Amino acid sequence: MSQLRPMIIGLTGGIGSGKTTVCQMFAKRGVEIIDADQIGRTLVAPGSIALQQLIALLGQDLLTADGSLQRQRLRQLIFSDPHARHQAEAILHPLIRSAILEKINESASSWLILAAPLLLESKSYDFADRILVVDTDETLQIERTRERDHCSEDEVHRIMQIQLPRTERVARATDLIHNNGDLANLDRQVAEYFERYEKLAHARQYTTPGL
Ligand code: ADP
Repeated sequence: MSQLRPMIIGLTGGIGSGKTTVCQMFAKRGVEIIDADQIGRTLVAPGSIALQQLIALLGQDLLTADGSLQRQRLRQLIFSDPHARHQAEAILHPLIRSAILEKINESASSWLILAAPLLLESKSYDFADRILVVDTDETLQIERTRERDHCSEDEVHRIMQIQLPRTERVARATDLIHNNGDLANLDRQVAEYFERYEKLAHARQYTTPGL
């Protein structure tokens, strides 16, 4: 027998586009959020099998003295070495995908947001019912990221290079939020999508074989 499951809204966008802010705006309306990055961080906790596999592949110097992952160093390695990035992704993405599916199967919500920066780049998220893209002008994206992370324009560019070009991402969106205005403007758009998703989720029943 098929089992009811939530409608899944995959949320993505380039670095600094406003994904986290949009998630917070949905969360304050009571929407369940599954955050792929957060799941990834939990999976590589000290002593975890995923962390051991990463270290075996990429080297002991990714660990701090207390056995936790040096994220900054992993980030540098990944941006300078595409092969290392593919190896790390081959370990982490399937684990993240299983953890997400488990959460979806346990969820009692009629719909939820699955936030993943690489939603469209990775093949792990093909089960999303809709793709909500947060789109922001590049200059604003860079400005907001630099302010948030205190990093150089170069670093932001490097991250943008491993993400899909903006136009391709937007072309694959079923739903689009423009985050070029102020936060009140962003919140109004979130409110509209909230109403729309409430209606959509109740108009149709989603069952697990779709996963
Ligand atoms: P992402 O999660 O996509 O990387 P964030 O939601 O963290 O992006 O947004 C990047 C930065 O820009 C954050 O510091 C956030 O507070 C800020 N920000 C996002 N949207 C707006 C906006 N409309 N106006 C002003 N600042 C914003």
